[in-house]
Amino acid sequence: MAPKLRDLARDQRRPYIESVDEPTCTCGHDRFHPKAEANPSYGPFGWALLMLGATPVPRHVEYRCRTCGASLGISQDTEDIRRVT
Ligand SMILES: [Zn+2]
Repeated sequence: MAPKLRDLARDQRRPYIESVDEPTCTCGHDRFHPKAEANPSYGPFGWALLMLGATPVPRHVEYRCRTCGASLGISQDTEDIRRVT
């Protein structure tokens, strides 16, 4: 039982640890902040599909601060990509 409890405690601490690791801009916003916007990034082939009216899957998502315009990092996580499409 003890190791399980310790794992649970570690999981509960993870959001804090991840927020420390997330890049932030000079305003202090990270990519989860409401002022951050997610921009899907398509490769040249994806843009061609977009112009043909298809819905390509972005290669990655770039997060940008809406206040200062600084990049808050790029995510290739399929969950993040699905969220912006
Ligand atoms: Zn900013």
